[in-house]
Amino acid sequence: MTSLKKIIITVDGWSSCGKSTMARQLAKRLQYIFIDSGSMYRAITLFFIRNEVNVQDPAQVAKALQQIKLSFHLNAHNGNNEIYLNGENAEPYIREMKVAEKVSEVAAIREVREFAVKQQQLIGNDKGIVMDGRDIGTAVFPQAELKIFMTADNDVRVMRRYKELAAKDSSIQMEDVKSNLALRDHMDSNREVSPLRKAEDAVVLDNSHMTPDEQLNLALQWAKEKINA
Ligand code: C5P
Repeated sequence: MTSLKKIIITVDGWSSCGKSTMARQLAKRLQYIFIDSGSMYRAITLFFIRNEVNVQDPAQVAKALQQIKLSFHLNAHNGNNEIYLNGENAEPYIREMKVAEKVSEVAAIREVREFAVKQQQLIGNDKGIVMDGRDIGTAVFPQAELKIFMTADNDVRVMRRYKELAAKDSSIQMEDVKSNLALRDHMDSNREVSPLRKAEDAVVLDNSHMTPDEQLNLALQWAKEKINA
Protein backbone atom coordinates (compact mmCIF):
# COMPACT_ATOMS: atom_id res chain seq x y z
CA MET A 1 0.00 0.00 0.00
CA THR A 2 1.40 3.42 -0.86
CA SER A 3 1.08 6.03 1.86
CA LEU A 4 -0.53 9.36 1.06
CA LYS A 5 1.71 12.21 0.01
CA LYS A 6 2.22 14.72 2.84
CA ILE A 7 2.06 18.40 2.05
CA ILE A 8 2.57 21.76 3.76
CA ILE A 9 -0.54 23.92 4.14
CA THR A 10 -0.21 27.60 5.05
CA VAL A 11 -3.07 29.71 6.35
CA ASP A 12 -2.41 33.46 6.43
CA GLY A 13 -4.68 36.43 6.79
CA TRP A 14 -5.99 39.31 8.87
CA SER A 15 -6.34 39.23 12.64
CA SER A 16 -9.33 37.36 14.02
CA CYS A 17 -10.77 35.90 10.87
CA GLY A 18 -10.72 32.41 12.33
CA LYS A 19 -7.43 31.18 10.89
CA SER A 20 -6.41 29.11 13.90
CA THR A 21 -9.82 27.52 14.35
CA MET A 22 -9.99 26.47 10.71
CA ALA A 23 -6.33 25.42 10.52
CA ARG A 24 -6.63 23.32 13.69
CA GLN A 25 -9.70 21.49 12.37
CA LEU A 26 -8.08 20.97 8.98
CA ALA A 27 -4.97 19.47 10.61
CA LYS A 28 -7.13 17.19 12.73
CA ARG A 29 -9.02 15.86 9.73
CA LEU A 30 -5.80 15.23 7.79
CA GLN A 31 -3.94 13.92 10.87
CA TYR A 32 -1.37 16.66 10.38
CA ILE A 33 0.49 18.77 12.95
CA PHE A 34 -1.06 22.17 13.59
CA ILE A 35 1.12 25.13 14.55
CA ASP A 36 -0.28 28.55 15.49
CA SER A 37 2.72 30.74 14.67
CA GLY A 38 1.04 33.76 16.29
CA SER A 39 1.36 31.99 19.64
CA MET A 40 5.14 32.10 19.21
CA TYR A 41 5.15 35.89 18.70
CA ARG A 42 2.74 36.23 21.61
CA ALA A 43 4.94 34.11 23.91
CA ILE A 44 8.02 36.15 22.97
CA THR A 45 6.02 39.31 23.71
CA LEU A 46 4.95 37.89 27.08
CA PHE A 47 8.61 37.35 27.95
CA PHE A 48 9.46 40.91 26.85
CA ILE A 49 6.65 42.36 29.01
CA ARG A 50 7.51 40.30 32.08
CA ASN A 51 11.19 41.18 31.80
CA GLU A 52 10.65 44.81 30.80
CA VAL A 53 12.70 44.44 27.64
CA ASN A 54 13.08 47.73 25.79
CA VAL A 55 12.17 46.86 22.19
CA GLN A 56 14.03 49.94 20.92
CA ASP A 57 17.31 48.59 22.29
CA PRO A 58 18.81 45.92 19.97
CA ALA A 59 21.19 44.68 22.68
CA GLN A 60 18.32 44.06 25.09
CA VAL A 61 16.31 42.31 22.37
CA ALA A 62 19.25 40.07 21.41
CA LYS A 63 19.91 39.17 25.05
CA ALA A 64 16.24 38.39 25.66
CA LEU A 65 16.02 36.12 22.61
CA GLN A 66 18.96 34.11 23.94
CA GLN A 67 16.98 33.51 27.12
CA ILE A 68 13.82 32.31 25.38
CA LYS A 69 13.07 28.68 24.68
CA LEU A 70 9.79 27.94 22.92
CA SER A 71 8.30 24.49 22.53
CA PHE A 72 4.95 22.95 21.71
CA HIS A 73 3.39 20.17 23.77
CA LEU A 74 0.26 18.22 23.05
CA ASN A 75 -2.48 18.70 25.64
CA ALA A 76 -4.03 15.25 25.96
CA HIS A 77 -7.32 16.71 27.27
CA ASN A 78 -8.16 18.99 24.35
CA GLY A 79 -5.87 17.57 21.67
CA ASN A 80 -4.23 20.98 21.09
CA ASN A 81 -0.56 21.70 20.62
CA GLU A 82 0.12 24.29 23.33
CA ILE A 83 3.00 26.71 23.52
CA TYR A 84 5.49 26.60 26.37
CA LEU A 85 7.79 29.48 27.26
CA ASN A 86 10.90 28.27 29.08
CA GLY A 87 9.04 25.19 30.30
CA GLU A 88 5.88 27.02 31.40
CA ASN A 89 2.57 26.61 29.59
CA ALA A 90 2.04 30.15 28.23
CA GLU A 91 -1.43 29.58 26.76
CA PRO A 92 -3.34 31.10 29.73
CA TYR A 93 -1.51 34.43 29.34
CA ILE A 94 -0.77 35.03 25.66
CA ARG A 95 -4.31 36.06 24.61
CA GLU A 96 -4.53 38.84 27.21
CA MET A 97 -5.04 42.39 25.92
CA LYS A 98 -1.69 43.57 27.28
CA VAL A 99 0.04 41.03 25.02
CA ALA A 100 -2.23 41.83 22.04
CA GLU A 101 -1.37 45.52 22.43
CA LYS A 102 2.39 44.90 22.15
CA VAL A 103 2.71 41.84 19.91
CA SER A 104 2.73 43.55 16.51
CA GLU A 105 5.52 45.89 17.61
CA VAL A 106 7.58 42.91 18.81
CA ALA A 107 6.77 40.87 15.70
CA ALA A 108 8.05 43.67 13.46
CA ILE A 109 11.61 43.34 14.84
CA ARG A 110 13.85 41.59 12.31
CA GLU A 111 15.75 39.53 14.92
CA VAL A 112 12.50 38.34 16.49
CA ARG A 113 11.22 37.20 13.11
CA GLU A 114 14.45 35.39 12.28
CA PHE A 115 14.29 33.64 15.67
CA ALA A 116 10.68 32.51 15.14
CA VAL A 117 10.92 31.65 11.43
CA LYS A 118 13.94 29.39 11.97
CA GLN A 119 11.95 27.31 14.46
CA GLN A 120 8.85 27.27 12.26
CA GLN A 121 10.86 25.95 9.31
CA LEU A 122 12.39 23.20 11.46
CA ILE A 123 8.96 22.06 12.63
CA GLY A 124 7.80 21.89 9.00
CA ASN A 125 10.77 19.82 7.83
CA ASP A 126 8.81 16.59 7.61
CA LYS A 127 5.73 18.17 5.98
CA GLY A 128 2.30 16.96 7.13
CA ILE A 129 1.74 20.35 8.73
CA VAL A 130 -0.81 23.15 8.78
CA MET A 131 0.62 26.45 10.02
CA ASP A 132 -1.27 29.69 10.38
CA GLY A 133 0.05 33.25 10.66
CA ARG A 134 0.79 36.28 8.54
CA ASP A 135 3.87 35.37 6.46
CA ILE A 136 3.74 31.58 6.37
CA GLY A 137 2.98 31.29 2.64
CA THR A 138 5.23 34.20 1.66
CA ALA A 139 8.31 33.84 3.88
CA VAL A 140 8.28 30.68 6.03
CA PHE A 141 7.16 28.08 3.47
CA PRO A 142 7.14 29.77 0.04
CA GLN A 143 7.30 26.23 -1.41
CA ALA A 144 4.08 25.08 0.32
CA GLU A 145 1.75 23.01 -1.84
CA LEU A 146 -1.42 24.70 -0.57
CA LYS A 147 -1.61 28.33 0.54
CA ILE A 148 -4.85 29.71 1.90
CA PHE A 149 -5.40 33.42 2.51
CA MET A 150 -8.27 34.02 4.90
CA THR A 151 -10.33 37.13 5.20
CA ALA A 152 -13.67 38.27 6.66
CA ASP A 153 -15.62 41.53 6.99
CA ASN A 154 -14.22 43.84 9.65
CA ASP A 155 -17.39 43.88 11.80
CA VAL A 156 -17.57 40.10 11.75
CA ARG A 157 -13.95 39.85 12.90
CA VAL A 158 -14.40 42.40 15.70
CA MET A 159 -17.49 40.60 17.01
CA ARG A 160 -15.78 37.20 16.94
CA ARG A 161 -12.75 38.41 18.89
CA TYR A 162 -14.92 40.41 21.31
CA LYS A 163 -16.99 37.33 22.16
CA GLU A 164 -13.86 35.23 22.64
CA LEU A 165 -12.27 37.76 25.01
CA ALA A 166 -15.48 38.73 26.83
CA ALA A 167 -16.08 35.08 27.74
CA LYS A 168 -12.93 35.25 29.87
CA ASP A 169 -13.02 38.89 30.99
CA SER A 170 -16.30 40.79 31.38
CA SER A 171 -14.53 44.18 31.48
CA ILE A 172 -13.49 43.91 27.83
CA GLN A 173 -14.81 46.78 25.68
CA MET A 174 -15.85 46.32 22.06
CA GLU A 175 -14.16 49.62 21.08
CA ASP A 176 -10.82 48.43 22.50
CA VAL A 177 -11.05 45.18 20.55
CA LYS A 178 -11.91 47.08 17.38
CA SER A 179 -9.00 49.49 17.67
CA ASN A 180 -6.56 46.70 18.58
CA LEU A 181 -7.50 44.71 15.46
CA ALA A 182 -7.20 47.79 13.25
CA LEU A 183 -3.83 48.68 14.74
CA ARG A 184 -2.43 45.13 14.42
CA ASP A 185 -3.64 44.79 10.83
CA HIS A 186 -2.06 48.13 9.98
CA MET A 187 1.26 47.30 11.64
CA ASP A 188 1.34 43.74 10.29
CA SER A 189 0.73 44.82 6.70
CA ASN A 190 3.02 47.85 6.76
CA ARG A 191 6.10 46.53 8.52
CA GLU A 192 9.37 46.32 6.64
CA VAL A 193 10.18 42.65 7.31
CA SER A 194 7.77 40.05 5.84
CA PRO A 195 4.61 42.16 5.89
CA LEU A 196 1.22 40.47 5.75
CA ARG A 197 0.51 39.86 2.06
CA LYS A 198 -1.46 37.35 0.08
CA ALA A 199 1.02 35.06 -1.68
CA GLU A 200 0.50 35.22 -5.43
CA ASP A 201 -0.37 31.53 -5.56
CA ALA A 202 -2.69 31.57 -2.50
CA VAL A 203 -6.40 30.82 -2.71
CA VAL A 204 -8.69 33.28 -0.92
CA LEU A 205 -11.18 32.08 1.65
CA ASP A 206 -13.62 34.80 2.72
CA ASN A 207 -15.61 33.31 5.58
CA SER A 208 -17.81 36.32 6.45
CA HIS A 209 -20.91 34.40 5.47
CA MET A 210 -19.77 30.82 5.89
CA THR A 211 -20.38 28.35 8.70
CA PRO A 212 -17.33 26.69 10.26
CA ASP A 213 -18.30 23.43 8.52
CA GLU A 214 -18.58 25.10 5.12
CA GLN A 215 -15.12 26.67 5.34
CA LEU A 216 -13.58 23.46 6.64
CA ASN A 217 -15.09 21.43 3.80
CA LEU A 218 -13.81 23.88 1.22
CA ALA A 219 -10.29 23.81 2.67
CA LEU A 220 -10.40 20.01 2.89
CA GLN A 221 -11.38 19.81 -0.76
CA TRP A 222 -8.44 22.05 -1.74
CA ALA A 223 -6.09 19.98 0.42
CA LYS A 224 -7.22 16.68 -1.08
CA GLU A 225 -6.76 18.04 -4.59
CA LYS A 226 -3.13 18.86 -3.74
CA ILE A 227 -2.48 15.60 -1.89
CA ASN A 228 -3.80 13.57 -4.81
CA ALA A 229 -2.11 15.66 -7.49
O1 C5P B 1 -2.39 35.06 14.93
P1 C5P B 1 -2.38 36.02 16.10
O2 C5P B 1 -3.42 37.09 15.99
O3 C5P B 1 -2.41 35.32 17.41
O4 C5P B 1 -0.95 36.72 15.98
C1 C5P B 1 -0.59 37.74 16.90
C2 C5P B 1 0.36 38.70 16.21
O5 C5P B 1 1.59 38.04 15.93
C3 C5P B 1 -0.10 39.29 14.88
O6 C5P B 1 -0.91 40.42 15.03
C4 C5P B 1 1.22 39.62 14.22
O7 C5P B 1 1.71 40.87 14.68
C5 C5P B 1 2.16 38.55 14.74
N1 C5P B 1 2.36 37.47 13.77
C6 C5P B 1 3.26 37.67 12.77
N2 C5P B 1 3.57 36.66 11.90
C7 C5P B 1 2.97 35.47 12.03
C8 C5P B 1 2.00 35.25 13.04
C9 C5P B 1 1.70 36.30 13.89
O8 C5P B 1 3.83 38.76 12.64
N3 C5P B 1 3.31 34.48 11.20
